Amino acid sequence: MISKEEISGTIKRYRSGKITIGTICSHSALQIFYGARQEGFKTIGICTPDRRFVYEAFRYARPDYYIILDDYKDLVEERFQEELLRRNAVVIPHGSFVEYVGAENLKKDFHVPIYGNRSALEFEGDRRKMRTWLQEAGVRVPREYQDPSEIDRLCIVKFHGARGGRGFFVVDSEKKYREKVEIGVKKGIVNESDLEKRTIQELVVGVRYYPQYFYSLMFQGEVKAGEGRVELLGVDRRVESNVDDLYRIPKPEDSPGIEPSYVITGNIPAVLRESLLPRVLDLGRRVTEASVKLFPPGIIGPFCMETICTDSLEFVTFEVSARIVAGTNLYPGGSPYSCYLFSEPMSTGRRIALEIKEGIRKKRLIDLVS
Ligand code: ATP
Repeated sequence: MISKEEISGTIKRYRSGKITIGTICSHSALQIFYGARQEGFKTIGICTPDRRFVYEAFRYARPDYYIILDDYKDLVEERFQEELLRRNAVVIPHGSFVEYVGAENLKKDFHVPIYGNRSALEFEGDRRKMRTWLQEAGVRVPREYQDPSEIDRLCIVKFHGARGGRGFFVVDSEKKYREKVEIGVKKGIVNESDLEKRTIQELVVGVRYYPQYFYSLMFQGEVKAGEGRVELLGVDRRVESNVDDLYRIPKPEDSPGIEPSYVITGNIPAVLRESLLPRVLDLGRRVTEASVKLFPPGIIGPFCMETICTDSLEFVTFEVSARIVAGTNLYPGGSPYSCYLFSEPMSTGRRIALEIKEGIRKKRLIDLVS
């Protein structure tokens, strides 16, 4: 892992008035660039040649500079890292950033300061570590089964990594499990290494909500955790194909070939019953406190909890995303929650930039990067 001392040395060499914000042109990059610009930062888009026109097409969100490369994995090459360092860059790791560059590369070979805590990405990328984190937080998690022979109810079978639900399937017995694995392998959706790292989880019945949080070290407030505060910046729901529109098929039982799938295709906004806010704020606070314990200084910046609210109004959390999530793209002009926290329209992208700006002002930028 790149050491804190090394990053600290880099930040000391940076010219504080010339800090730029960079990220890979994908996922939530428009929002990140737009938000950084609103807070007065110059921005760097790390981009493949074919994508550049997309970012040029949005004049208020296009980056000020580009680093053009053919393959995002090349970002660890010295010449690209040197350019980022020369421009005093702080890089924002969104979901595609981690996926494209590779978690291992980011941990060991990427010397440019990253906003947030690199160790959080490790906890996020490993389902076992994530479960330990959620259990340490004392939040409710779905029951898990080590062996298919234990399956005694409706379960969802999930695979490793941020793959947007691809290949997941639902079973209610060991027999069904074996059948569906066979089909998945035949279709090439599931391979041997996927099966080694699969998770069998109770299928929680209820309504999904994905609250988007921000752990701030620079601002204090009512929902305290570690040395800072937890903010609720928005809530969304994912729209997954085909499960979310299966009801449109008049009689699914007449079409046995149709199986539910959970591939993410988009997001829609949501607000919660106000009486559920105590629970949702408490969830964010607990998960932050646990992160401070498990990987200090904790989950700095944006994160999202993937939850299912049951009909007894309990939230069951099946995943944490330890970084900005694409669902925040719904709220570039602020959300029905961020408007009660900030007097200006506050997206998660802008919130990141605001935190960095405050870190620079307080001479504490080093506390926000790793
Ligand atoms: P990403 O990393 O992009 O968040 P992923 O591949 O890790 O996606 P999950 O987010 O764990 O996958 O799950 C994808 C979808 O599967 C969820 O949004 C949800 O609809 C469904 N799902 C996952 N776990 C459960 C569960 N225990 N009960 C019910 N539905 C679930």
